[in-house]
Amino acid sequence: MTEGQSRCTHERCVRVPHEASSNGRCIFHARAEDKNKKEFDEALRGYVSLEEVREREKAYDFRGFIFPWDIDFKKDLGINTFADGDFCHATFEGNASFDDATFIGIASFGGMKCQGTLSFHGAKFEAEADFRDSIFEGKSIFSQVNFEQIGWFSKVVFGEVSFAESTFRSIMFADAIFKGKASLRDITCETANFDRAIFEDEVDFLGTTFNDEALFRDAVFAKFTVFSYVKFGFTEFYGTVFSEEVNFSFATFKERTYFTDVRFKYADFAKARFLGNATISSKSIEESISFEEASIENITLSSLNLKGKAQINFTEARLRNTTIKCEDVEDHIKQEIDKDYREAQEIYLLLKNNFHSVGRYDDESWAFKKEKDMERKSYCHARPLRWLGSMFWNLLYGYGERPFRIFGWCAFLLLFSSFVYWFSKGVFHVIGADLVLVEDYWNNLYFSVVTFTTLGYGDFRPVGTIKILASIEALLGIFLIALFIFAFARKTGGR
Ligand SMILES: [Zn+2]
Repeated sequence: MTEGQSRCTHERCVRVPHEASSNGRCIFHARAEDKNKKEFDEALRGYVSLEEVREREKAYDFRGFIFPWDIDFKKDLGINTFADGDFCHATFEGNASFDDATFIGIASFGGMKCQGTLSFHGAKFEAEADFRDSIFEGKSIFSQVNFEQIGWFSKVVFGEVSFAESTFRSIMFADAIFKGKASLRDITCETANFDRAIFEDEVDFLGTTFNDEALFRDAVFAKFTVFSYVKFGFTEFYGTVFSEEVNFSFATFKERTYFTDVRFKYADFAKARFLGNATISSKSIEESISFEEASIENITLSSLNLKGKAQINFTEARLRNTTIKCEDVEDHIKQEIDKDYREAQEIYLLLKNNFHSVGRYDDESWAFKKEKDMERKSYCHARPLRWLGSMFWNLLYGYGERPFRIFGWCAFLLLFSSFVYWFSKGVFHVIGADLVLVEDYWNNLYFSVVTFTTLGYGDFRPVGTIKILASIEALLGIFLIALFIFAFARKTGGR
């Protein structure tokens, strides 16, 4: 046997192979089933009390160690402070506790694996903490942890996890997978990156503060997601997918905010406040989006792509200078779908004023028309007379928004009257002192036009009861022409 073969086969390890190890590993690197509890625990205690480890100020090297049963570093080994703790590719087959530990140097946990519960409750990382590519099969607890530098969790696979009440300077969760419930409540951090992260279960960000920026590009939230009371700085949701309900109620978006090509099912922005420049454009909204009592002034809300019967709710929203297009919300106003016409009327009034504030006059005219439609529908049962009145103005000229409808009425009146004159034989030609019946239709039509426009040349004259119709036609003629001029000028002139 040569000297080389008498060493542990794990990389760079210089320890002697463990007797029971079938693959030539030392007692630390040997497979769990090759270990004996008493021997392993003794060896571990022997290692941490080594003079050379103490001299290097607690620079522990647990790289690739396989911990076969539960371990609590403080209780079992008396370690509370780690300088350059190296646990790369270590395996914990039981639970592992680092509660209240302090990591002075870089904490390397990259590629580690934990099958039991992993707990860092109350720990403090003074330098970077690196957990990249780790797999946490059990529950992991990072609550009340203080990450003074960057916390790297890229590509980590989490089971159930809690980061509640932790503070970070910066967290990286890019490409992480959260298989269990994730609690990210009351976190305080400067920057956070969740790009392409996948949340397979419920996730809760309640009360978290992202001071500088938070990125969620192409992230997927498969279950109920809570962002209530979250304070956002610069925020980017790009291509993000919310497969179930997402709740942003009471959230504050302080800086520039992008919701671009996001897919929503139920999105609730009730009482949310957008203080910076914001753009919300969605690839699809399957069921509903609510801005109830939300402040959405000066933001862009387009294109929304509400699907089929999806609803949008603007109840008491603060709309102003909000870029919305009528085609985005048409047929999706919640109150109208619910046949709550009185409330729907308020919503259209809100939209109308908003369209005016952004200079979208065609959309303003649409909203005004809808407002009147809702008013009419709300009268339908309770106040039939007002309903009739409202219906009349709608049919006549679309509440002023359809002036050319008046032309139709003019044509109808002219033709109708001309036929009555013709059939009733009540129009006579004045020749000297004689009256000769006008028998051909065209002259009756001519008489109708002259009467309608109140030109009254006097060459033809109505006789008998037909005078009444001629008078009415003349009055209606003046009224319709005046009404058309008024509506046309109002619609095309300055506002
Ligand atoms: Zn070894």
